[in-house]
Amino acid sequence: MKYCMKCGNELQKRSLKHEGSIPYCEECCEYQFPYANTAVSLILLSPKQDQVLLIQQYQKKDYILVAGYVNQTESLEEALQRECLEEIGREITSIRYLKSAYYEPSNTLMCCFTAVADSVSLANISAWEIDAAKWFPFDEALRMIKPNSLAKLFLMSYIEKYKKLSF
Ligand SMILES: [Zn+2]
Repeated sequence: MKYCMKCGNELQKRSLKHEGSIPYCEECCEYQFPYANTAVSLILLSPKQDQVLLIQQYQKKDYILVAGYVNQTESLEEALQRECLEEIGREITSIRYLKSAYYEPSNTLMCCFTAVADSVSLANISAWEIDAAKWFPFDEALRMIKPNSLAKLFLMSYIEKYKKLSF
């Protein structure tokens, strides 16, 4: 972070007890701690946990994971529940933390979880947020998911950890 988020003044590094060197605004007389957007990404599992849901969005051909930004005042778990209900029309259970990664182009900390859907029904998916959604077995999901994406990194991490597929 180079400029003050309140006044736009150039920030100076100033040492803060126990915290090291922190950007400081001399106009506002305030330290500005690092800031990133927060988003959740979800490996949504079928009730039998043998398939994963991938979606297509924004008229793109790439398959990705269900994901969305965390609203202010929301917990990560609440954001996951809301995104799933809004986009897929399904309730989720057994939410489990998997892995996080920083995505520089949008200054976003992506936090990936796994959860189990209450049904494989896709009858209630949002027509305006989702172009297509499909359940895939894990080996096929790995081939279909967007190459070189964080979504693929998260899926590979899940499979390595829990599925013991070789790739
Ligand atoms: Zn300032």
